[in-house]
Amino acid sequence: MTKIALAIHGGCGVLPQDSMTAQEWAEARLDLGHALRAGYAVLKAGGRSIDAVEAAVVVMEDSPHFNAGHGAALNEHGLHELDASIMDGQTLEAGAISASRVIRNPIKAARVLMEDGRAVFLTGPAADTFAGEKGLAVEPQSYFTTPKRVEALQAMKAHAAAGTEATENEKHGTVGAVALDADGHLAAATSTGGYTNKPDGRVGDSPVIGAGTYARDGACAVSGTGKGEFFIRYVVGHEVAARVSYLGQDLETAAGGLINDDLAAHDIGAGLVAVDATGNISAPYNTPGMFRGWVTTEGKAFVATHEELYEITL
Ligand code: ASP
Repeated sequence: MTKIALAIHGGCGVLPQDSMTAQEWAEARLDLGHALRAGYAVLKAGGRSIDAVEAAVVVMEDSPHFNAGHGAALNEHGLHELDASIMDGQTLEAGAISASRVIRNPIKAARVLMEDGRAVFLTGPAADTFAGEKGLAVEPQSYFTTPKRVEALQAMKAHAAAGTEATENEKHGTVGAVALDADGHLAAATSTGGYTNKPDGRVGDSPVIGAGTYARDGACAVSGTGKGEFFIRYVVGHEVAARVSYLGQDLETAAGGLINDDLAAHDIGAGLVAVDATGNISAPYNTPGMFRGWVTTEGKAFVATHEELYEITL
């Protein structure tokens, strides 16, 4: 039996602290707490890390506060196209779907695809058809839309017309989870609406195994958030695992190096959560904040949006 650990993120598209009311921040933290509890309950009962990360991500997909599922970003045509993936560090099995327009919980479709085993990655209408055939819930586009995302699209279009820079929050967000279970197995899951005003058909890093999501027993599990194009180029998830495995770096050095050195050099917002084979957790970000939370191997749980950590009871 190894110790259990869990970490989640709700994206690094977080505004400066004074730009939202205390109540709005508190509501987002509440949903982070719900997601942690859902994932931790699985681990605590001796369940598998793959089930824990799926459970945590479903809660954040259902929350309007994060850019995934209900509350996902709108693309340039005012449409939601959803990406998600999940990976089992024990077997290296994985499932990914991209550009879904109807799947209520894209992470569930990624998981069902992983179990199905005929493909690792399905995209667009084929992913939507697959989910429907497997009996997963599908929704009209209006289900995914929230007033905040409509405003963000308007703001992004205004920035594009005026040639001004958007805030991190207007741009993007994502949700993800990583876990270590009592049998020593790692898993990772990530789900996103991508970034606001993204080109039609654009696929980011979140469903790309090795980039936005990666898990390998003995190394670590990683879920990223930030400008996906760079996560794909740096193959961030796999790169963190490679630095841990082959350079012998500790998790904090490997994960922090990618976010604060490699990716920060491109002047892009980026963050990730990661857990290693002994339950160490790392959650670096280079934006004003990152929605995040974790449960340590000692069973202590924290949620945060900016620097300050809030301890919560599970
Ligand atoms: N990584 C996501 C994407 O590029 C967006 C984000 O996390 O901000 O699709």
